[in-house]
Amino acid sequence: MRFSDIIGQERAKGFLKRVMGERKVPHAYLFTGIPGIGKTSMATALTMALNCHEPGDLDGCGNCPSCRRLVGGNFPDFILIRPDGQNIKIEQIRELNRRLGFAPVSASFRVCVLQQAETMTSEAANSFLKTLEEPPAGNILILSAREPLDLLPTIVSRCQRVPFQPLPTRAMVDWLVSQRGLDRQKAEVAARGAAGSLGTALRICDENFLEMRKEWLSALLKLPAISIGEAVEMAFQWTRKNRQIRGGDAEPGGSVLMDMLHVWGSWYRDLLLVKVGGPGDLIINVDFSDRMGPVTKCFRRAALVESLLVVSQAVRDLRRMRNAALVLERAVLHLKRLALTG
Ligand SMILES: [Zn+2]
Repeated sequence: MRFSDIIGQERAKGFLKRVMGERKVPHAYLFTGIPGIGKTSMATALTMALNCHEPGDLDGCGNCPSCRRLVGGNFPDFILIRPDGQNIKIEQIRELNRRLGFAPVSASFRVCVLQQAETMTSEAANSFLKTLEEPPAGNILILSAREPLDLLPTIVSRCQRVPFQPLPTRAMVDWLVSQRGLDRQKAEVAARGAAGSLGTALRICDENFLEMRKEWLSALLKLPAISIGEAVEMAFQWTRKNRQIRGGDAEPGGSVLMDMLHVWGSWYRDLLLVKVGGPGDLIINVDFSDRMGPVTKCFRRAALVESLLVVSQAVRDLRRMRNAALVLERAVLHLKRLALTG
């Protein structure tokens, strides 16, 4: 992964290259932005560029032994820390501190990335703060988080902040077509549904996801015609399926139910767009667009707005780890009522 392989993020790239060019590399960075927009890739590219034996234009060459080991995933001086379950725990930070106590194995710069740094427990954050104040020489610490506000201000103030932007839909579509060989309509559905995150777009492209997405949208279309009992049963089945797929302790932001609710949210958003006569090229679920016209006729504008609110409330409730079965049941029944009374 070289700087030149990363889509967009020109400002972040430019900043990091400038810093490298000045030979004055700050030791701590905070990469901020939604998941799946290249924060970890950028950290890898920085590691490669800093340690490359034959760098060109301040980028890694991709071919020297150092670059090849990094690409192959056996570069001992690139440390990636992810939440263990819900959190980054104190034990993980202690282990990191222990490793940082030794000089880098072979590289000039060892890079350590804390993904979802906002999930650090307060013990872990306090322990990490000490490392951040006086990191051993030759180490670069990169924290990656959605929002700086999610972190302790004392941590944020010790890092050089590097904001990342959501990626343009067009750039993602082109990348999915040229690099993943997707047909253009699939690429459009994935990129438009991904709200600027290539990681999300890649997940949406997955055949299983596309199949489930069809099922979720068809269920929503059928909702007015089925009985209340059948709607409750449907909500229950999905909750059970969710547990089976994700093993019950799924992270709240990444469960199948959350994916389903995001798809539903995008559906009501599309309907609203069609209802108010918005531009067609903003429609997310392009492959379902021929169904939208007739469906919008059954809804008043206010009912569509309320349906959107119901879905986003359910997303918030799931994030707060409320009882998933109840959250979903309530949402489905509310949406059914709105679809009936339009
Ligand atoms: Zn190289």
